Amino acid sequence: MGNNYELHRLGLRDARQGLLRRDFSASELVESLLARIAVTEPKIGACLRVLGDEARETAKALDASGPDASKGLWGIPITIKDVYNVKGAPTTAGSKILSNYLPSYEATVVRRLREAGAIILAKTNLDEFAMGSSTEFSAYGPTRNPRALDRVPGGSSGGAAAGIVAMQAPGAFGTDTGGSIRQPAALCGCAGLKPTYGRVSRYGIIAYGSSLDQAGPLARTVGDLGPLLQAVAGRDGRDSTASARGADDYINIVAKDPKGLTLALPKELWEGSFDTGVRATLDKALSRLKDQGARLEYVGMPMLRYSVAVYYVIAAAEASTNLARYDGVRYGVRAQGYRDLLGMYRQSRTEGLGREVRRRILLGTFALSSGYYDAYYKKAAQVRRLIQEDYLRVLEKADFILAPVSSIPAWPFGSFTEDPLTQYQLDIMTLPLNLAGGPGLSLPAGMGPDGLPVGLQLMGPPFAERPLLEAGLALEGIFPKLPEAAL
Ligand code: GLN
Repeated sequence: MGNNYELHRLGLRDARQGLLRRDFSASELVESLLARIAVTEPKIGACLRVLGDEARETAKALDASGPDASKGLWGIPITIKDVYNVKGAPTTAGSKILSNYLPSYEATVVRRLREAGAIILAKTNLDEFAMGSSTEFSAYGPTRNPRALDRVPGGSSGGAAAGIVAMQAPGAFGTDTGGSIRQPAALCGCAGLKPTYGRVSRYGIIAYGSSLDQAGPLARTVGDLGPLLQAVAGRDGRDSTASARGADDYINIVAKDPKGLTLALPKELWEGSFDTGVRATLDKALSRLKDQGARLEYVGMPMLRYSVAVYYVIAAAEASTNLARYDGVRYGVRAQGYRDLLGMYRQSRTEGLGREVRRRILLGTFALSSGYYDAYYKKAAQVRRLIQEDYLRVLEKADFILAPVSSIPAWPFGSFTEDPLTQYQLDIMTLPLNLAGGPGLSLPAGMGPDGLPVGLQLMGPPFAERPLLEAGLALEGIFPKLPEAAL
């Protein structure tokens, strides 16, 4: 691969091999990706900020000391969702209220990526404060789906997924509170992993729903997720919710034999209504799995039908407290021309926060207010427990749970912006896992008849990331490989 022009096409592990063999330098890889970003960005708008100068400098320093195989991501450029603090760049969370926020410290994930030799290439677009499923709610404009520019990339980590599929970088980090890694990965056609709650530190990441949020990687293939997770997983003295449990080996993994693999298919998710193209693609994927000897068993998980209601109470409640700090005093842009203190708060928050975010704050504040707490938040927490039990019960008998990621393919812009409840309902496939806490892996199941990707997700017991990736490798080998996005 002497031609730098094509280096952007390399997946993460191929890029690593080339770098370690000195087929090309980290600087050449960075230049190729920056050129790719320059060509694709006007079409898709995946990045809020490209860190070109910083990336060039880091690459130069790495090249000066030469390839280091002991560093798992040596010379690998990675994009970061704009909720992680990266030193020297603003963290906006896709919100106007944080347009002037320059963090004074770095997220643990970002620090560990650097320690592993990675190069931070860009900060990617998202729905404001990670609230949404389409990246249409970013205060800085939407991101477009690289497979169909008139359609959304999914969300909230839409910039991360679009950038991966547009080959702007071989790896990306996003966050998943209710599907925000898995769903954009499915809608754009790449792989995405939501690790177990607590597997990856959230220090230095802007909080949305603290009992649900989890950081995780996106890449073009399942195997490419391993080195990304490896670099960041493990305990962190700065995040008490990060598990003390040591990381497993996520890199040297082998595809599980599909024969004898028992997969539980929750009826509550498979029996709903689907877009016909999505349904046909999913059915084809299921019959391929059966042909390879996997055992598919439909199971009842009756509590899943409450997951949308439960999630939107809990996520909104937690968001309302997490976002209280953006008041124009401690953080955020302060409004001009206010009359008194209360007016300053009100005006700053009204001008700085978008409609969807304000809606969630109102919803959450209501659910937590005295007299309503027992009826809403407490009840939701109780049902959440039952959803967790549904998961654990099913996973005692099956190796993994298999479910769709979205009942419809990437949709045209504006389809649901005036209809938030319908958009919330669309999250039914992904929300339950965050309520339960376990890991989930989203991967392409095939291309629908309309040329839009369709995803499937595998879910496992807590901290089963390694077996999950091994099963994911098996499925990836069975499902059709998606073509590159024509951009
Ligand atoms: N779509 C869901 C929401 O809007 C999930 C978002 C996320 O995972 N950050 O809350």
